[in-house]
Amino acid sequence: MNYKQIKSELEKLSQLSIKEIKEMQLRKLKERLNYHSQNNEWYKKYLEEHNLDISRIKSLEDLSLIPILEKEHIINNFPFSSVPEDKILRFYQTSGTTGNPKLIPYNRHDIDRSAQLKARGLIFGGVKKGDKGIIIMAYGPWASGLMSQQAGEYIGLTIAGDAKLAEDGEWHPWALKKYSPDYLISQPSFLVRLEEMCNKKGIEISESSMSHLFVCGDMSSKSFKKEFGKRYNSKIIDLYCCSEFGCISAECKSGNLHYWADELIIEIINPKTKERLPCGEIGEVVVTGLYKETPPLIRYNTHDLSLLLDSKCECGKDIPAISQILGRGDSMVSIAGANVYPIQIEDAINKIPELTNIYRFNIVKENYKDKIILEVEVKKNHYKDSQNLKRMVYNNIISIAPELNYVINQSLTASQPEIILLKEGNIPERKGKIKRIFDKRNGNV
Ligand SMILES: [Zn+2]
Repeated sequence: MNYKQIKSELEKLSQLSIKEIKEMQLRKLKERLNYHSQNNEWYKKYLEEHNLDISRIKSLEDLSLIPILEKEHIINNFPFSSVPEDKILRFYQTSGTTGNPKLIPYNRHDIDRSAQLKARGLIFGGVKKGDKGIIIMAYGPWASGLMSQQAGEYIGLTIAGDAKLAEDGEWHPWALKKYSPDYLISQPSFLVRLEEMCNKKGIEISESSMSHLFVCGDMSSKSFKKEFGKRYNSKIIDLYCCSEFGCISAECKSGNLHYWADELIIEIINPKTKERLPCGEIGEVVVTGLYKETPPLIRYNTHDLSLLLDSKCECGKDIPAISQILGRGDSMVSIAGANVYPIQIEDAINKIPELTNIYRFNIVKENYKDKIILEVEVKKNHYKDSQNLKRMVYNNIISIAPELNYVINQSLTASQPEIILLKEGNIPERKGKIKRIFDKRNGNV
């Protein structure tokens, strides 16, 4: 495939009616079920254990008859492949931040198709033929760097700016000047580091050649994107990606994620009952890969939280969409019964210009009640132990997380939060995936 073909596929997808999409999804779903059950002994047995006769699948409503796959199925049934082992060319590893690493097998077809779908995300976000890209991500063992590199090469010159090169603080500022890239792909947290490196070299990041910054890997809040979009003088676009599928969807100007409904089915399920939820209700994102030859990823639970849009997206695009990812099902914390997502805390902090975006959100027990101790960093020039600033942080958090407001102020099941202001640089984690929530209620850190 080339740039023109990938762009044309994207255009075709946007012209399909919902009915046509559903028909295509059903046809491909049946094909995949037959293919994987014929080529994968484990998957065949798994379907049998759940009494699934594939001929019973008559409509997409029947998806609920197909058993859900969890990450343990992949971990415990290595290599989790429907192709012979000598056809597996790569394993992508998950970063393992939430438990044991998973290894996802890829044959030639799956490697190329996943990269093409990522290139589709770049084109959706506004990248044009011949644009130059710089990829500042880890080049293995996870998918991020290698897959982004291959996606960028469908478009034009793609610079491998492995995130490890950031250690000396020299290479990236140099590469930005030397290659003048049009777009970047990185983790959102790397934008903070890149700005620091450029500042040290006297490079004004707002004057860089880049117009589009694609972020994936970590969640990024609206306020983060707004602030860093301003600082970089660029458009920040979320690509919703994972090692299992590559790029699932890309963000539009209304902040929703349009997904590749010709190659994937997305369902939202209730995290407890696993039942399918209607449009508009928050639940876990379950993805079916309709193009996958290697792992049988049919109804795979990502445990990410989102909702299916119940009406056409405000941006006007006709590609099905889900909302921004609201958090990981297993990173959401429950405080005195209120569900709080890391992204809400990040949003509250990013709204205050005096603060850096580095913080620690600790949850402890105090007199049998849950209590939040939030440590935030104040920028060097603004630092003082200000009650006003503390109040502002507090007010922002409870306005963004109304359930939390209720348990603190109305039901009084949680203690008043304590806000601690620290000087910039006092919270050590500044690189890579940053752990921000520390649940110490059971002695865990
Ligand atoms: Zn949209």
